[in-house]
Amino acid sequence: MNNQADSSNSFLTSLPTREFDLLKPHLKLVELRHQSLLVQAGDEITHAYCPHSGVVSMVVNLDDGETVEVAMVGRESLFGVSAAIDGEKSPNSAIVTLPGIASTLEVEHVRLAAARSEDFRMQLRRHERAVLVQAQQSAACNAVHPVESRLSRWLLHAADRSGGDALALTQDFIARMLGIQRNSVTIAAHGLQDAGLIRCSRGYIEIIDREALITNSCECYRDVKTHCDRLFRRDRHPVIGRESSRASDRPAIEPMRAKSPHPS
Ligand SMILES: [Zn+2]
Repeated sequence: MNNQADSSNSFLTSLPTREFDLLKPHLKLVELRHQSLLVQAGDEITHAYCPHSGVVSMVVNLDDGETVEVAMVGRESLFGVSAAIDGEKSPNSAIVTLPGIASTLEVEHVRLAAARSEDFRMQLRRHERAVLVQAQQSAACNAVHPVESRLSRWLLHAADRSGGDALALTQDFIARMLGIQRNSVTIAAHGLQDAGLIRCSRGYIEIIDREALITNSCECYRDVKTHCDRLFRRDRHPVIGRESSRASDRPAIEPMRAKSPHPS
């Protein structure tokens, strides 16, 4: 894959042809395996990942062993943009929340392309800004909003970024991402299921009534989506959001060739 027209990643599809041609020779397909660690906090980010499916979460690891998600990226964006811009070591870890496949390349190639094009640098900064918007909203949401609203918000964000409403996730994993007790997630999930908003089965959660789930969510889902839509609207083919999951907007992805999240 990695032909621009065949990509399901809107960061890649939105690139001007000249910038895409600079990156294309270095793109490799990799599998994103659930809970794979892409980078450890404090380490240098060596590779950027442009998911075609699946979701990557940026998480903060606390000394007591707790892990809390601060932002996630899927097929609307890329992971590693901050390293491409400033070259700093990663302030947080990145793990695969939902499995899928991604095009990956060494950050250095993104940095070199950015050095050649002001438009490309601006585009990268919009994607970096989208991560910051999520992180700020997550901090506020986790501090003051009830668990059921937070769970609704998180499921909607994950579904938007993965491009599907059936999420292969356990409640235990979601509890870790939200930084709350498993029992609290279970109670909230049962409430949403009893209301007909989601369906839970072993290792899966499916959104059944998206509009009702949005209504049930706190304003954080809508606020982040509005900000990100506005940021990505300046790209040529913005696709974040539910409308982007239409099959016609998701061209077939070529078979995977690489198995490791870290290509050789
Ligand atoms: Zn909230």
